[in-house]
Amino acid sequence: MNARAHRIKVREVVSETAEALSLVFDIPDDLTRRFAYAPGQFLTIQVPSDRTGSVARCYSLSSSPHCDDRPTVTVKRTPGGYASHWLCDNIAAGSILTVLEPAGSFVPRSWNRDLLLCAAGSGITPIMSILKSALCVGRSKVVLLYANRDPGSIIFARQLRELVRRNPRRLTVLHWLESERGIPSARGLAGLVKPYRGHEVYLCGPTGFALVAKQALAQSRISARDIRQEEYRSLTENPFEQPAPVVTTAVRPAGDIASVRVEIDGHTHRLSWPRGAKLLDLLLAHGIDAPYVCRESACGTCVCRVERGRTRMLMNEALIDEELARGLTLACQTLPESDDLHITFDQ
Ligand SMILES: Cc1cc2nc3c(=O)[nH]c(=O)nc-3n(C[C@H](O)[C@H](O)[C@H](O)COP(=O)(O)OP(=O)(O)OC[C@H]3O[C@@H](n4cnc5c(N)ncnc54)[C@H](O)[C@@H]3O)c2cc1C
Repeated sequence: MNARAHRIKVREVVSETAEALSLVFDIPDDLTRRFAYAPGQFLTIQVPSDRTGSVARCYSLSSSPHCDDRPTVTVKRTPGGYASHWLCDNIAAGSILTVLEPAGSFVPRSWNRDLLLCAAGSGITPIMSILKSALCVGRSKVVLLYANRDPGSIIFARQLRELVRRNPRRLTVLHWLESERGIPSARGLAGLVKPYRGHEVYLCGPTGFALVAKQALAQSRISARDIRQEEYRSLTENPFEQPAPVVTTAVRPAGDIASVRVEIDGHTHRLSWPRGAKLLDLLLAHGIDAPYVCRESACGTCVCRVERGRTRMLMNEALIDEELARGLTLACQTLPESDDLHITFDQ
């Protein structure tokens, strides 16, 4: 069992639209610190299955740690999907779910810059957390571009109207409804985002929307460096059920093995690191409680910093150039290059 998994009670289920609902969690006092989260992060929920024992799915927190009392996720039914339907059909107030601690790097680093938030459908959930937090703790302007099928499918429609009413000078909400304007086009979206060049962009939505939104941002000469994107996909790995990997150093020649000092959760570990072993596998094989969810480089949960030495990543979908320049790396994809390394986890 993943050491970061906890059984958490659902306090309330809120119907948002015909296809989406929010699960409000009751975090027990002894887990408050572990469930502290940043706007834009997600929880990973274990959903039982007759076929596979269970599946794991990520759901972004739609609540704001700055202005909402309890962590809340919002789940929208995926057509033909499994876990989203199971959650919508089976969870009620009082249900207990097994949930991993908050994770993810789709998080603004400061609230100083004006924000352009682009969302479609259920992509609104991390965006809503960022939007509410920016209004709560920052002073900058926030523009939300929000695409949906029709008025009935707009998640948080009422809350957004209320936020605009309370923050008329700071918050602008631009809706794109397919029922009125057709599928979003790069040209159409560019017309809407062009005035907001210079804003920092956070983008979350289905692949088709993300693609045209990025074209629109490029056409509006908004720099790729200013754009952060969260991609929704179902996990193929199951962090709740995975056995710890076996990494052996026993029969390797010395040159095949680097040495690493790892600082994590206030502890320091000195380990031999076989050159073919990924850092996360090495840590888990030694029983070290390293954070992870997807193990595919996408979620950013296992991010850590190389303080000394050189490493390389097999894949990287989560970190941007600026983060790589700061020495950040994803433990699930990191192999050693130098002989002597020092790595820290900043939990
Ligand atoms: C960082 C992140 C944040 C996200 N945030 C949100 C969010 O806030 N809101 C939201 O709605 N979504 C969110 N998602 C998407 C979410 O994690 C799921 O991908 C989405 O709910 C679809 O899952 P699903 O199981 O319903 O559909 P699918 O994954 O499309 O379901 C089909 C899959 O389930 C398998 N399957 C079918 N039946 C069974 C069975 N009985 N047992 C086992 N497997 C079966 C199939 O083989 C197939 O692989 C997020 C994703 C990520 C990565």
